[in-house]
Amino acid sequence: MNSSIRTVVILGSGCAGLTAALYTARSGLRPLVVDGHEAGGQLGLTTLVENFPGFVEGIQGPELVDNIRRQAQRFGAEYRSGNVRRAHLSARPFRLEMEEGGDLLAECLIIASGARARWLGLPSEQALIGHGVSSCATCDGFFFRNRDIIVVGGGDSAMEEATFLTRFAQSVTLVHRREEFRASRIMLERARANPKIRWVMPAVIEEVLDVEKKEVTAVRLRDPRDGRQWEMPTAAVFLGIGHVPNTAFLDGQLETDADGYLQTRGGVQTRVPGVFACGDVQDRRYRQAITAAGSGCMAALEAEKFLADAEPEG
Ligand code: NAP
Repeated sequence: MNSSIRTVVILGSGCAGLTAALYTARSGLRPLVVDGHEAGGQLGLTTLVENFPGFVEGIQGPELVDNIRRQAQRFGAEYRSGNVRRAHLSARPFRLEMEEGGDLLAECLIIASGARARWLGLPSEQALIGHGVSSCATCDGFFFRNRDIIVVGGGDSAMEEATFLTRFAQSVTLVHRREEFRASRIMLERARANPKIRWVMPAVIEEVLDVEKKEVTAVRLRDPRDGRQWEMPTAAVFLGIGHVPNTAFLDGQLETDADGYLQTRGGVQTRVPGVFACGDVQDRRYRQAITAAGSGCMAALEAEKFLADAEPEG
C-alpha cells in the first residue's frame, strides 16, 4: 500500500459528488473526488437543463457540472481520474483498490457513483455499439446528419434524445414497447409536436442489423400483441431506456434493492458508519439534477458530523 489517508473520498463527479465536494471543501476537509468512468455523470451527457432552479433560460448540462466542479475546487476540492475496482469497507480507514495507480485510504467515504445507461442486451446490439448503436445522443448524434434513425424508450430520456436528434437526423422514429409513456407531459408533448418524430409502438427490437457489415442498416421489430415481425431500415439506434446503478465495486457489502440501487436510511446513511451514498446510485425515484445535488449536500453534512463525532484514530 502506498497511500496517505484522505479524510474524505468522494466516488463520482456528477451533480451529487460535486455538491458533496463543494460542501466538504468549504468545511476545510479537502475532499478527493475520484472521477470514475463517466466524469460529470449524466449531466455531462445531456443538453439543455431547464429545471435546475436559478437559471431562467436553462443551462447546458456539461456547463452546469463544470461550474460546480470549479466552485468546489476554489475551496480546496481535489480531483483524480480513474475508477475504483473494489472498496473494502470492513474497517476504517476504508481501502479503495484503484484500477490503476495504487490504493486510496479514506476515513470517510461518499459514494456518488451514479447509474449508467441500460442496454437491451441483444448480442447484435452489443456488437454494433460504436457502429451505429449508441446510448448517448449528445455524443453521437452529429454522425447521423440527414439520416433516418431510431430512439428506443418511453421515458423522459427517450423524449429528450429524440427531440435533440431531430437537429441532425432527417427523421427520428421512436420505438417503444408499450402504448403508455413514463415521460412527463411536457417532454412528451414537445416530442409529439415535432414533425420529424415518428412513432412505432408497441414494438420490441428483436435484432439490430447488420453485424456482418459492421454498421447499422435496419432493426427487426416484433409487435408484442400478435408476434408479427418486420424490418425497418435505420442508420442508427439510440437507447433511451433508463439506467443501472454503478455498485459492482462494492461487491455486495452494502444493501441494495432488487435492481441494485443502494438502500439508505435517513436519506444518505448506509449500514457502514462513515460510508454515505447520494445521487442516482441510491435514488430510483426522483433522479433529478437538483435532487442529486440535494442528497450530495446531505451526504457532506453527515460526513462532517461523523468525522467530528468520531474518536481520533490511535
Ligand atoms: P425511465 O423513466 O425509467 O424510462 C425508461 C423507459 O425505457 C421506459 O419507457 C421503459 O419502458 C423503457 N425500457 C426499459 N427497459 C427496456 C427494455 N429492456 N426494452 C425496451 N424498453 C425498455 O428512465 P429515463 O427516461 O432515463 O428517466 C429517468 C429519470 O430521469 C426520470 O425521473 C426522468 O424524469 C428523469 N429525466 C429527466 C429529464 C429532464 O427533465 N430533462 C431528462 C431525462 C431523464 P416501460 O415504460 O414499458 O417500462
